[in-house]
Amino acid sequence: MTSSSDNTSRANSAERVLITGAAGFLGSHLCDRFVKDGFQVVAMDNLITGDMRNIEHLLPLPNFTFVHQDVTEYIHVSGPLHHILHFASPASPIDYLKIPIQTLKVGSLGVHRCLGLAKAKGARITIASTSEIYGDPEVHPQHEEYWGHVNTVGPRGVYDEAKRFQEAITMAYHTFHGLETRIVRIFNTYGPRMRLNDGRVLPAFIGQALRGEPMTVFGDGSQTRSFCYVDDLVEGIVRLHFSDETRPVNVGNPDEITIAEFAEEILALTGSDVEVIRKPLPENDPKQRRPDISRAREVLGWEPKVSRSEGLKLTYEYFKGLSEEDLHRSEHKDFASYTTR
Ligand code: UDP
Repeated sequence: MTSSSDNTSRANSAERVLITGAAGFLGSHLCDRFVKDGFQVVAMDNLITGDMRNIEHLLPLPNFTFVHQDVTEYIHVSGPLHHILHFASPASPIDYLKIPIQTLKVGSLGVHRCLGLAKAKGARITIASTSEIYGDPEVHPQHEEYWGHVNTVGPRGVYDEAKRFQEAITMAYHTFHGLETRIVRIFNTYGPRMRLNDGRVLPAFIGQALRGEPMTVFGDGSQTRSFCYVDDLVEGIVRLHFSDETRPVNVGNPDEITIAEFAEEILALTGSDVEVIRKPLPENDPKQRRPDISRAREVLGWEPKVSRSEGLKLTYEYFKGLSEEDLHRSEHKDFASYTTR
């Protein structure tokens, strides 16, 4: 982690934080950060998409406890709790196509449980929202006042609508119960501990390069994304959690690139000469995505620091270190066939 010395996070060993989705990509990096900052961390995950290997290095530590639990059930945490970060959710398009009901449940029932727990304990809660709030956006770049363009019944609807409900109920707990709430809208994020075969573009391309398989660009590759390195994202989340900002805040890297160009960057990074092939564009795949981070700059004094070339190198090192078994695990390989009509 790059920047845990920031003074907006408060090291206080008496304070306890619950992190849901703790064994996932973002959840595990948040666990690292809060452990490092001296908090007592209660990590919760039902391991439906999470992986214990992401947090096993934390298990021996006295200020870290793991609870194997589904947050959509009643959650009981004994003792005081000062902070909650609700990061449990399937988060790659292929995951929420495979497990749509669980995706809806964790964003609705799961957040309700977490808000109830926060209210009972007097804890401050940050919920993980998403750029998918904006759907296939007609406003570019996306600022927080934009209401979005979401197909409720499309393949992404289960994720997008769960997250939209999550924002609504979180704001209701804030206005009605006076709960201390924070809403972070997370844009595409990458880094070590992404699942190589979760279907998302970065692990897909790097995995294909490592296996010597053709690189699959969906559609004509002109759709854009803006990728944020995980350490920058974690810093933004921590700053938001300890700020007074109750409105949603975009946290992401505005450095935008087309997917076709991104494929070229991954070829150069990996030194691979695999063929780049085209596959059909999945239904409702957003044509463009780039965060307007003026609010984060203004209220959090935050902006990303890690360039894509630097972040990609760090991420590639991680993927290169994976076992042959991980590299060839075949979950989720054929992504486009799930979602094109
Ligand atoms: N994509 C691609 N090839 C792949 C996987 C994804 O071209 O093997 C595209 C996908 O269609 C989308 C972009 O890459 O336009 C980002 O997809 P991802 O699943 O990473 O996340 P999204 O931003 O769509 O939620």
